[in-house]
Amino acid sequence: MGDKGETGGLSRRALLAGMAATPALTAAVAPAAAQAINCDATTEAAEARCRAALKDARGTKLVLLGTGAGPVPGRTRRMTSHVMLHDGAAYVVDCGLGVTNQFARTGIPFKSVRSIYITHHHPDHNIEYGPFLVIGWIQGMQPSNVHAFGPPPLTEMTRDYLRSAKVTIDFWAEDLKMNPLIGIDVHDLPTPGPVMRDDNVAVTSVLVEHPPVKPAYGYRFDFADRSIAFSGDTVPLEVVARMARGADVLVHEAMYLPALEKYIRAQIAKGRPVSFDAFMAHMNADHSPVEAVGRIAQEAGVKTLVLSYLTPAVDSITDATWRAPAAKHFKGEIVVGHDLTVV
Ligand SMILES: [Zn+2]
Ligand SMILES: [Zn+2]
Repeated sequence: MGDKGETGGLSRRALLAGMAATPALTAAVAPAAAQAINCDATTEAAEARCRAALKDARGTKLVLLGTGAGPVPGRTRRMTSHVMLHDGAAYVVDCGLGVTNQFARTGIPFKSVRSIYITHHHPDHNIEYGPFLVIGWIQGMQPSNVHAFGPPPLTEMTRDYLRSAKVTIDFWAEDLKMNPLIGIDVHDLPTPGPVMRDDNVAVTSVLVEHPPVKPAYGYRFDFADRSIAFSGDTVPLEVVARMARGADVLVHEAMYLPALEKYIRAQIAKGRPVSFDAFMAHMNADHSPVEAVGRIAQEAGVKTLVLSYLTPAVDSITDATWRAPAAKHFKGEIVVGHDLTVV
């Protein structure tokens, strides 16, 4: 076929012309390519550090899988998700876009997944929940060992997602003689309070304030050796401080207002169809300025405050800039979240 000058409908001449054009194209994009290599080097280093930290781990570890706020793709910081690892069992909190890939990069086997918690039904917290189940299953997750918890209608969402993916799941199961993807134990949590207890951990939830989303939860995980609390998306709340009281780690969302104002003004200038006042009113009604987060952590008396779910998730804000407002009030350790950091 190729000898006759045809390759799948594309003439040989067109193909050769395309190839001749390639060097010019390469030269034109060279600076961007160089940048991409730097970026990969950074993420590979983060992955190597993460794997090393988990390999030598004693006791419960927390891995920040995605530390960016909001449903925004294409950033260094991925959408929100976290995993705690205790004695070979993995507990996942939120499934923003990228959770499956980030989980894989930690080196934690998918068969370790024991339970999944969704804080609330915004897309940056649940959009990859279904795909995590399907790809996780292909990679060794045991569906009948997995429990999922979240606000209603999580049961219905799980069923609907798996139904929508039935054809592709069945092709795979039949072809590779796999056990079917069934038996995930899903629990709707219509009210806050005790969530579950297994041989590793007791989990409780509190209602946070994140209008108009109802309910939206924060979660606390009490392992034998360590307690870890998550604010979820919320304004600064007394109830989060109470939930986290005496915990080792509080993972709290944080926004840095001066940079956020600049960021949204630039977005509006580029044509994003939102008014500055409406946007800021929404942010102030739904999220927590980093200085207030320091106050909550101090009130809770935690050892370590982890700033994760950062707004705006732009790389130009230094760790010191994030840390300083929280440190005005909180005297313990402050970790500024980066993807694949192990705490
Ligand atoms: Zn969110
Ligand atoms: Zn949200």
